[in-house]
Amino acid sequence: MNVDFDILLEQAQAAAEQAYAPYSGYRVGAALLCGDGSVVTGCNVENASLSLTICAERNAVFNAVNQGKREFLALAIYVDSDEIFPPCGACRQVLAEFNPRLPILYANRLGSIFSDLETLLPQAFTLSEQ
Ligand SMILES: [Zn+2]
Repeated sequence: MNVDFDILLEQAQAAAEQAYAPYSGYRVGAALLCGDGSVVTGCNVENASLSLTICAERNAVFNAVNQGKREFLALAIYVDSDEIFPPCGACRQVLAEFNPRLPILYANRLGSIFSDLETLLPQAFTLSEQ
């Protein structure tokens, strides 16, 4: 399946508008292209007890799994900032559970960087024998 990252990024950008980020100020959206062609989004949801904050990427994955989806083909992440961030380590590990080679585009107001999970998280933790 060809991935239109422009459209996926637009959906991530729209998801960022839903972010609840009163502490960091970083509004983040993620758009996950699923194996059935659907797109599931997530935004970051912060909490006064900061460790309870959940990232947009994991929110998208958990939302997709909750809808019965297990196959993920691509991910776009948008942060409404001039700074740019790849997914955090926790999100990388969660994404690797479903597709250790997931193509990932992460972007901000100024541009984007294309990568993949194999590059961002080599030798991910797994319980299965390699
Ligand atoms: Zn994260």
